[in-house]
Amino acid sequence: MVSKVVVIRCPFCGSDRVSKNGHNKTGKQVYNCNNSECKHRNFIEDYTHKAYLPDVRKQVLKMAIDGTGTRATGRILGISKDTVTAILKKHKNGPGK
Ligand SMILES: [Zn+2]
Repeated sequence: MVSKVVVIRCPFCGSDRVSKNGHNKTGKQVYNCNNSECKHRNFIEDYTHKAYLPDVRKQVLKMAIDGTGTRATGRILGISKDTVTAILKKHKNGPGK
């Protein structure tokens, strides 16, 4: 059995330089983003499960255009290969902007 290492990333800038910052009222883990360029200085763990955030999606599509493979894209962005595939599929099916 291989246990997955979960890397917490800031959902806004994608930085993994985050630190725990206690819990909010509902008991959710709150993180601080240590990226000084980031506009959102803290976020809640829940957000990290949403790999479909606009920035991530944009990045995936950009890398696909550049010819980066799904596996490499996932590794670089810290999301799963399946997520990358799902984003690309969704994009192909819906030509909406
Ligand atoms: Zn950030």
